[in-house]
Amino acid sequence: MTALALYGGPPIRTRPFQPWPQSDQTELGALAGVLASRRWGGIHSGSQGEAFERALGEYLDVPHVAVVANGTAGLMIALRALGIQAGDEVVVPAMTYVATATAVSMLGGVPVFADIDPDTHTIDPSSVKVAISEKTRAIIAVHLGGHPADMDRLGLIGADHGLPIVEDCAQSLGATWSGAHTGSLGRVGVFSFASTKNISAGEGGAVVTHDGELAARIASLRDHGRSLGVTGHHSELGWNLRLSEFQSAILRVQLERLDRQLTAKTKGAAFLTSALSSVPGLRPVPADPNPRVTRHGRFSLAFTLDPEAFGNISISSFRAALRAEGIPVVLRDLIACPDEPVYADAASQDHARSRTVSCARARAACKKLVLFGQAAGSGMLLEDPSEVADVVRAVEKIHDNMGQLREAERQRATTCVPSDS
Ligand SMILES: *Cc1c(COP(=O)(O)O)cnc(C)c1O
Repeated sequence: MTALALYGGPPIRTRPFQPWPQSDQTELGALAGVLASRRWGGIHSGSQGEAFERALGEYLDVPHVAVVANGTAGLMIALRALGIQAGDEVVVPAMTYVATATAVSMLGGVPVFADIDPDTHTIDPSSVKVAISEKTRAIIAVHLGGHPADMDRLGLIGADHGLPIVEDCAQSLGATWSGAHTGSLGRVGVFSFASTKNISAGEGGAVVTHDGELAARIASLRDHGRSLGVTGHHSELGWNLRLSEFQSAILRVQLERLDRQLTAKTKGAAFLTSALSSVPGLRPVPADPNPRVTRHGRFSLAFTLDPEAFGNISISSFRAALRAEGIPVVLRDLIACPDEPVYADAASQDHARSRTVSCARARAACKKLVLFGQAAGSGMLLEDPSEVADVVRAVEKIHDNMGQLREAERQRATTCVPSDS
């Protein structure tokens, strides 16, 4: 038995997987074109921004698209355009990137945390029902990891209570639910083009909607509250959250590549899911594909680890051992959103108000989650099965050596030396 790479043994893999984000000469040409044009900013007619908005709208089959500085700004603009004010409650999932909730807080609103469905890790519609109060003004569905939330049930709840559904599509560009794109299903959809997302310009975002009136407010809010009429005067309080022409030009190129990459990632994820199904203790998220998820966005490929099948080692040991074997995996200790200090720690400088209906399942999921793909900053899922097979070898090696990991944990627990890392 060879030693784990964590303890000095030879790693399963030394060659890096494909990087993320990806680019080629096309981005370089697009950037040079913008540079030479001397039109580097502004979203004027004939601009890169306008062309990208049109392309994204066609791709999603949504008539109104506004590019914005980033996904968080997009959420703030969407909520403001919907009329969210200080004290208003917005239901959000207890497991998401914190920006879903902080976007609400930045407007003075109160995020109300609903629990997740333990199978898909997206917001649980039953918990949303419990979360709704007379102060609720909107519901945010997050398509976590690229897996669409249950938009059928959320749509019914929204209609029942007269509440708009905001889709946080930061991780789900390209995903479809019953054949329709995420972002086109709710009242308004928000995308992020940060470095790890499905298309990227380092930073960037977009807000999309079918509603023309809402679209006009969104376009105004990102541009100093400028009215879209002939005067161009400023009719309301707005931000400057525009996107630069360099970013829009890159995003146009990236969008062209998206479907090809999604096809490759779908193949990589299917191979890995099936190959790891023989390893006891690792379960894919979700356990069985939902037929209404007609395409997963594949921001990540998630598994839950049953520590008992791995000799009760901790999830952090498992992740660290995997990383040492040359497999990119998220190393960070994930926590549920209500447990983020900004919401949990009353002594924190910017402690924000929130309300939690339940986060027990979100907490449990965070403690078991093993995340591959862009979430780990890697283009691994784009690779051929012959390359991705190294992940299976690494997991099997850890399984064979779990005694080593357990012993190391036992020794750490009995040593009195404090350790920071
Ligand atoms: C990335 C992300 C955001 C924020 O997008 P930025 O562009 O980083 O501001 C919001 N929600 C989720 C689920 C995300 O993954």
